[in-house]
Amino acid sequence: MEASPSRLTFCDPAEARYSASEIEMLAVVWAIKKCRLFLLGHPFELIVDHRPLIPIINCKTLDEIENPRLQRLKEKLSSFRPQAIWRAVPSIEFGTSEVSDPDKDDQIGQRHSIATFRYSSGPDNAAEPFVDPIINCVLNSLLEASELSSEYRRLRNHITSGFPEKHKLDEDLHPFWKVRYQLSLEGRLIFLGSRILVPSILRKSILNTLHSSHQGQERTLRRARQCVFWPGITNDIRNVVSSCKQCAAYLPAQQQEPLCRDPLPTFPFQTVGVDLFSHAGYEYLVMADHYSGWLNVAKCGTSANTNKVIFHLKHWMTDMGIPEKLMSDNGSVLLKWGIKHTTSSPHYPQSNGLAESAVKAVKYLLAKTSPSGDLENEAFQLGLLELRNTPRADGRSPAQMVFGQPMRTTLPLHRSRFAAEWKSQHKDCDIRASRLRQKATERYNKAAKPLKGLQRGDIVLLQDPKSKRWSTLGEIIDTTRRGRSHLVRTESGRVFRRNRRFLRTFTPTPTQAEQVPVVPESIAPRRSERIRSKPVRYLNVIQCDQRSHLQGGHEPYRPSLPCILLRSSASDEAMESTRELQRQERMDSRDSSRAHLETH
Ligand SMILES: [Zn+2]
Repeated sequence: MEASPSRLTFCDPAEARYSASEIEMLAVVWAIKKCRLFLLGHPFELIVDHRPLIPIINCKTLDEIENPRLQRLKEKLSSFRPQAIWRAVPSIEFGTSEVSDPDKDDQIGQRHSIATFRYSSGPDNAAEPFVDPIINCVLNSLLEASELSSEYRRLRNHITSGFPEKHKLDEDLHPFWKVRYQLSLEGRLIFLGSRILVPSILRKSILNTLHSSHQGQERTLRRARQCVFWPGITNDIRNVVSSCKQCAAYLPAQQQEPLCRDPLPTFPFQTVGVDLFSHAGYEYLVMADHYSGWLNVAKCGTSANTNKVIFHLKHWMTDMGIPEKLMSDNGSVLLKWGIKHTTSSPHYPQSNGLAESAVKAVKYLLAKTSPSGDLENEAFQLGLLELRNTPRADGRSPAQMVFGQPMRTTLPLHRSRFAAEWKSQHKDCDIRASRLRQKATERYNKAAKPLKGLQRGDIVLLQDPKSKRWSTLGEIIDTTRRGRSHLVRTESGRVFRRNRRFLRTFTPTPTQAEQVPVVPESIAPRRSERIRSKPVRYLNVIQCDQRSHLQGGHEPYRPSLPCILLRSSASDEAMESTRELQRQERMDSRDSSRAHLETH
């Protein structure tokens, strides 16, 4: 069979604009179809001078071919059994018979070779490289960069004159060894299939362009596979996407982690949870017993200060006994009373779950029975009594667990209910309680997965509790509470305490690090050197972070607090006292003689 450029008349104007690989494949399909009577049903060798076609014809399945045009053309060969072989250009000459004439060949049916066509858009511009209109806009910079890159120049030589043995190949060209048969030259540019090999100096800007739409890793990779290539492009794209601060800010919330529960207490008021809430302009203190679920509530006026909180806690502890462990959102403990104090991370109330649910119960009861927030209201008092008398899931009410019998209420109750018979079933109740607890843990853990541990010095993004955006960059400076609660210092120098769920590992790119705005020293706010006296009323008081989400944004964590103050509302007065305290603390940190620990 004879093939020559003059036969290219089969190309219509649209086909004439095909890329090199596409038009070579078109020629192959055309040639095979011409000889189909001889080729159908027989394996045959197909000699081509365009290397990228070898894997497309021999190895790749249709779904592995990304170019839809090539895919369509390959599909047309599905009824044939070609084995493509590459031969350098001079061995296939136009106008010569590379294919044996079937009429003259005496080995018919055993070996048929087909010469493909050299692509040329015409004799006048035969020397012009084929340039896809899409790449025209960056062509000049690509050509310039390719001339500057020694890697590119050497690779070009190897493609023209053949690759040497692998051990003779320069170290930096080793990544190209595997794809050496798929590389081809179009003018001065190197292609892998239809993808341009980008010279190293242009890769960064190409990466930025690829990610300009801020799509995820897979989509960006898919886009890159259409047009550009270089060794390690997949990793480069992954790094660019994972270190993009704009993309990171919009990542979804992290999954919940498996529950890590404290062991069940063994007697009433062994472990208690304390929390504050506000209702109808007043602040309320709630204490819930972890063993029985018994809860106490007290009104702390319009703002809960230390004295009021301590007054109520002391009062309850005198009635119920001093707990071994007190859990709160923040603050410190009554050291003299020998209570172990545990705090939870801000915005992660799960760690003080019982107190949180007690708050919910009391808050609803208040809203429904005493909208004005009056605890002396009879409806509220009777409601609270019923709350304490209602059996929990294990069958025992808080009153039964604390007093050994139900409390008498306005509900009629048979005398036998006051007998201590339930005590004989005490063991069964305990078993039921622990089974329920186990079930609840299993249910929770079904959707939970542990997050990777964080180390001191790790760079992380903090999730904003209000907007849920991962907008603040910080560094881990310490880890507390079973490795799940971390102290993080942000770029502004403030320190926050956050649960692992609200921290996401992040690797900032050097460019982003460079982009961190540096405030010139001349316009930095002037710090007053005036010595301020400490306000007497707050000497023992440190602001707690318990309800900081009400104030919006991140609230700083202050460790080693001298005394307890739990705070709930975001009233202006309280905000002002917070600011005052922050100023106070800053001054205190300079002064080594800090306020001594308050020991009540
Ligand atoms: Zn992005």
